Amino acid sequence: MTERLGFIGLGAMGAPMAKRLLGGGYPLLAFDQNPVALQKLVDAGAEAAGSVKEVADNVECVLVSLPTPDVVKAVALGAGGVCEGSRVKTFIDLSTTGPRMAQSVAEGLAKHGITQMDSPVSGGVGGAEKGTLAVMVAGPEPLWDRYKPALSFIGKPFFVGETAGHGQMMKLLNNYLSATAMVATAEAFVVGAKAGLDADVMVDVICAGSGMNTAVRDKFPKSVLTRTFDYGFRTELMHKDVKLAIEEAEALGVPMWLGQPMRQWWSLALQRGGTGEDFTHIVRYMEEMAGGVEVRSRKNAPKE
Ligand code: NAD
Repeated sequence: MTERLGFIGLGAMGAPMAKRLLGGGYPLLAFDQNPVALQKLVDAGAEAAGSVKEVADNVECVLVSLPTPDVVKAVALGAGGVCEGSRVKTFIDLSTTGPRMAQSVAEGLAKHGITQMDSPVSGGVGGAEKGTLAVMVAGPEPLWDRYKPALSFIGKPFFVGETAGHGQMMKLLNNYLSATAMVATAEAFVVGAKAGLDADVMVDVICAGSGMNTAVRDKFPKSVLTRTFDYGFRTELMHKDVKLAIEEAEALGVPMWLGQPMRQWWSLALQRGGTGEDFTHIVRYMEEMAGGVEVRSRKNAPKE
C-alpha cells in the first residue's frame, strides 16, 4: 500500500506539489495555518490535520513547503513542532532556507530521532502544477531510495549528496543565476523600450541568440509583456534567496561581487512593492526610473 505522507504549507508551491502527490496515489494528512488553503487541499482529496503536531503524530514522513527559514525552524523545532511528533521519522523540507539553516534543523531534529532531507525545488508554480520541478535532495541514501518515487511526482529528483544542506546550497546557486538573469533582462528590455525596440521582436531574437535565459524565454512573455505581473513568485522570496546566496559566499570567503548591485534592485522592489507582490513588478520600478517607458507586447498595446 502507498505510504500516507504529511504535508505542511499549502501556498503557491505547496498546494500544487501536494496535489501532484495525491494524483500519484499518496494519501495525505495536510496542515496549513491558513484555513482557506487547507480547505482547498481537502477538496482535492487530502485529510486535514488540526496542527503541525497532529501531522507528525500520525505519519512517518512529513514534507513541508514554508516561506522563510525562521518559519521552517519554528515548524520543525518550535513548541508543538514536528520534533514533538510521536510517529514521524523523516522530515523532507521543500522550502528554500539556506544550507546553514538546513544543517541546524537537521541537528535539532536528529536529537529527536528524526532525519532531515533538504529537498528544495526550482521551476516555479507552473513547474509545480505540471510536476516538472527540479528537486535537489540531500540526505542519507536509504531515505533517498525510499522517497524518490514520491518526489518523482513533484518533479525530477536529483541526489545532491548525503551532507545536510547541500540541496540548499545547490538551490541558492540556481536562484542566484535566476535572479541575476531577471535583473539583467529587465535592464536590457527597459533600455530596449527607451530606444524604441519592439519587445516581441526582442524576445524572438534573444531566444534564438546567445542572450537566452529563463526570464526572456518564460517570465517576460507570460507576465511582463502582457502587463499582468503574475508569474507566481513573490519579491520577498527572491530577495531572501539572493541574500542567502551572498551570505553563503561570504561565509565561504568567496567573492560574489555581482550579487551586491543585483541585491540592491531586489531591495528596492521589496521596499516599493511590499512582501506580497509578484517579483516581475521589478520591471515597473526600472521603467519609472527610465522616465516612464513600458515593456509591453504590441498584441497588448493600449487603445489609442
Ligand atoms: P507561500 O507564502 O505562497 O506559501 C507558504 C504557505 O505556508 C502559506 O500557505 C502559509 O499559510 C503557510 N504557513 C506559513 N507559516 C506556517 C506555519 N507556521 N504553519 C503552517 N503553515 C504555515 O510561499 P511559496 O511561494 O509557496 O514558497 C514556499 C517555499 O518554496 C519558499 O521557501 C520559497 O522560497 C520556495 N520556492 C518558491 C517558488 C515559487 O515560485 N513560488 C519556487 C521555488 C521555491
